[in-house]
Amino acid sequence: MKQVVILGGGYGGVLAAQTARKHLSSSEANITIVNRYPSHQIITELHRLAGGTIEEKAVALPLKKLVGAIDVNVVVDTVTAIKPDDKQVVLESGSVFRYDALVVALGSETNYFGIPGLEENSLVLKSAADANRIRQHVEERLDAYKASGNTADATIVVGGGGLTGVELVGEFVDKLPDVCRKKGINFADLTIYCVEAGPSIIPMFPKVLIERAMESLSKRGVIFLTGVAITEATANTVSLKSGQTLESNTIIWTGGVKGHPIVGGCGIAEDRGRATVTSSLQSTSHPDVFVAGDCAVVFPEGGDRPFPPTAQLAWQMGETIGVNLAALFRGGAMEKFSPVFSGTLASLGRKDGIGFIGGNNTQLKGWPASMMKEASNVRYLSHVHGLFSLAY
Ligand code: NAD
Repeated sequence: MKQVVILGGGYGGVLAAQTARKHLSSSEANITIVNRYPSHQIITELHRLAGGTIEEKAVALPLKKLVGAIDVNVVVDTVTAIKPDDKQVVLESGSVFRYDALVVALGSETNYFGIPGLEENSLVLKSAADANRIRQHVEERLDAYKASGNTADATIVVGGGGLTGVELVGEFVDKLPDVCRKKGINFADLTIYCVEAGPSIIPMFPKVLIERAMESLSKRGVIFLTGVAITEATANTVSLKSGQTLESNTIIWTGGVKGHPIVGGCGIAEDRGRATVTSSLQSTSHPDVFVAGDCAVVFPEGGDRPFPPTAQLAWQMGETIGVNLAALFRGGAMEKFSPVFSGTLASLGRKDGIGFIGGNNTQLKGWPASMMKEASNVRYLSHVHGLFSLAY
């Protein structure tokens, strides 16, 4: 019996497991997912948990429920080492797993770019626990503001104006007026900054949609500082390249991601910390190792700019890998990874959004964009649940 070990229970890992099980029976392959949490987390919706719009169960689906019924084992543990030449992985508990095929789908890590004080003094939004931490911290600071009147407690700085930062401030300006009312605080006392080093927030969108997003969020209370980098952070201050210092007791860093250190350092071929892969998503140095999602650097055919690290790509990579695991064991032809782009959508709170969808990049704004964003989440959820019910 072949041993398939899948590292990571995110989009790439779960879809790889589900698809592999459709093609490989339980007598052909034992499939095990190792994940540091017991849940599959819908990270594209974490901003809503951080803002308090949804509950944790909406973004943290029990992994065992999702894949247990199709005879995929779930091990809740943290991967500490991959030994590709020995075909082994080592876990924090001390367990060692031997594999015939490995799927590396560990996602990415926060990139602090070496900015002094940032890692120690900021919150991030990479997991449901992080989102809960942000919500709790903001509420505690608001209580402290009510007690002491210290404006640093009523000031939130979100560093990074990418999709994560922008969607997060959208939730804040939607939800915090309500939170403030309940606490007897005037929402107008709050200052919510979104600081972006580049000339523009969310530069993947056309100018007209960026302006729409900035106008919508500014009207509701977000102050955008663009073209200015964060250069240092302490527990109570954020220093900017312009020389300005923001006094804040809430610093949330959404300034970027980098490849997972375990992948970059394990001995498989890599490019700046992300594994290089073939068109069938096998490591270019170790064909028995497949790599999905943010851990891999994947170029479009003939292109020189890699695909961005998005959930929709991770999910599709997982499916290609699931098919190719069966081909690896049975000797058939491998499928080439050929992604389909359904578009990019950004929520600006619950009732507003922007985006482009479809092959002709149809632009959306306002309620239709919010609806599409909601629909894409429902589509994903029914896809992961549906695949599982289709299993033999
Ligand atoms: P990102 O890298 O896309 O954006 C980070 C932003 O922080 C950049 O605009 C960068 O210029 C800025 N920045 C970097 N250093 C800075 C500094 N010192 N001071 C101020 N700003 C600084 O990161 P992200 O937003 O976390 O997104 C990561 C990936 O996940 C992206 O590929 C994104 O498309 C994807 N994502 C998608 C969605 C969605 O589809 N709705 C939501 C969230 C994330």
